[in-house]
Amino acid sequence: MFLPTTKKEMEGLGWEALDIILVTGDAYIDSPFVGVAVVGKVLLDAGYRVGVIGQPDTGSGDDIGRLGAPRLFWGVTGGCIDSMVANRTATGRRRKSDDYTPGGVNDRRPDRAAIAYANLIRRYSKKDTRPIVLGGIEASLRRIAHYDAWTDRVRRSVLFDAKADYLLYGMCERSVVELAGRLKEGKDPHGIRGLCHISKELPEGCVELPSFEDCEKDKDAFTRAFRTFYDNNDPPTARPLAQKHDARYLIQNPPALYLSGRELDRVYGLGYERDAHPYHLKDGEVKALETIRFSISTHRGCYGECGFCAIAVHEGRRVRSRSKESIIAEAKEMTRHPLFKGRIHDVGGPSANMYGSGCERMEEKGPCPKRSCISPKVCPLLKSGHAEQLELLKELRSVKGVKKAVVASGVRHDLVLADKKDGERYLKELVSHHVSGQMKIAPEHSEANVLEMMGKPGCDRNALIKFKELFYRFTKEAGLKQFLSYYLMAAHPGCTKSDMKKLKSFALKELGVLPEQVQVFTPTPSTYSTLIYWTERDPSTGKPCFVEKSERGREEQKAILAGTGGGKVKKGPHAPERHWSKGTHYRGKGR
Ligand code: SF4
Repeated sequence: MFLPTTKKEMEGLGWEALDIILVTGDAYIDSPFVGVAVVGKVLLDAGYRVGVIGQPDTGSGDDIGRLGAPRLFWGVTGGCIDSMVANRTATGRRRKSDDYTPGGVNDRRPDRAAIAYANLIRRYSKKDTRPIVLGGIEASLRRIAHYDAWTDRVRRSVLFDAKADYLLYGMCERSVVELAGRLKEGKDPHGIRGLCHISKELPEGCVELPSFEDCEKDKDAFTRAFRTFYDNNDPPTARPLAQKHDARYLIQNPPALYLSGRELDRVYGLGYERDAHPYHLKDGEVKALETIRFSISTHRGCYGECGFCAIAVHEGRRVRSRSKESIIAEAKEMTRHPLFKGRIHDVGGPSANMYGSGCERMEEKGPCPKRSCISPKVCPLLKSGHAEQLELLKELRSVKGVKKAVVASGVRHDLVLADKKDGERYLKELVSHHVSGQMKIAPEHSEANVLEMMGKPGCDRNALIKFKELFYRFTKEAGLKQFLSYYLMAAHPGCTKSDMKKLKSFALKELGVLPEQVQVFTPTPSTYSTLIYWTERDPSTGKPCFVEKSERGREEQKAILAGTGGGKVKKGPHAPERHWSKGTHYRGKGR
């Protein structure tokens, strides 16, 4: 079922009033890839009456008032993507299209949507005193003082700017149910894990970060604050944090405990319509559905820790996988969907081949604090999940009604090569059965100094060449015609024009491609790469780092790689748009 979006639908359900109203910057899409749908279904499953208002008009009270006032709280999210990333390029130009808006024209989502919607609720619900609770990626990544590229300054926690009551960060199914329960019972919700709030006092036991005012004027203070923030993101080890903003404190409780595999299975089995609500569909198709409608999320979290990616801070570093049975059940349910034609568009997660992987230490205590699981070398204690994924994919292929199950999520080629037992077998199976014309990997660059700044020192050119050779060998053996495509990035901190020329030379000579679409680094909030962009220093050494900040220079870096080049060059298939339609993370064009 869809959650109600109008009074009439509420009446149809026999609901006089709602407990919780969720407000989102996207059209309401009932899909397990969409945070607002998942949170709504989880709350419904816990016994609450929930409604959704998608993309309300901020110029009047008509939309925001159409469901009345909630009994417990308003939940506000900017949508699946930070609204500034969705609406604007890094240089502030407005994007014309929006995959989460019916009809595709970017004319419904306000800039800084979480703030705009919190203001809207206050303006048109003057008598209503229900708490306003922020959630979703925009709030999550802006929960402490953060660098904002669109104003080129450090901004306060969004909780202050939105004047909201609480902020739930990360994947918040557990904390949102707990919050609803405490509000219903009239209990104090301030101690809930995964929750941020504002306090006049500094609570005992909090680690105090440099204040917003210090971070604003002192880049060293900002670096210290970010490092402490980043190091306190794993549930088993994180401590409560406090950051002074003027005379008050932003308090961040430790993150919510991760859902177990069984709990994840339950969340994904709550029954989703895999469509936009008819209220929105009357205004046109929602493009994001092309990629998310028939895709399956197999796991959450990523221990890759690429510096430009927000997953570590939002989803967490420990991989949590669903059971094979739950994934197969979802595939079977898909085959009964009237629009299903036999193709599952993706079976994956932040990195497709992290499914089922991990180590005992990670399970018990979270990832090692001072050591990366895969860089510069894959940790010998990391248990690969390739064997499990192979079994899963084989079973998916045999589901009646499934003609093809594509792995479209990025594959970590370094992990494949490091798995001496199952790595090549896994790649062979992918190539033979689970690639749809092209397979995507994300080397991002070829030059060691740039890869180091990206937090990907293990993804060197030799590994890439070896992976490419294996891919084409297996493709030939399978008698198929398909390509390997590469996500490459320009203007990452530390990258110069000279580095881009070397990357171009490498791409032409060793990979035999000239990508037409190259991503220009975007400094999104709360990543290590954004920290380097803002401070122009390597945070691990404190040494100055070159950062190309001018629009012209950044475009020139891109043009070096994406411009027309000589030689026998393959084009097109090697240059897909990044897949950023799937929910909560930034492995997309806006990173
Ligand atoms: S022991 Fe190795 S695989 Fe396990 S968390 Fe630490 S670095 Fe990662």
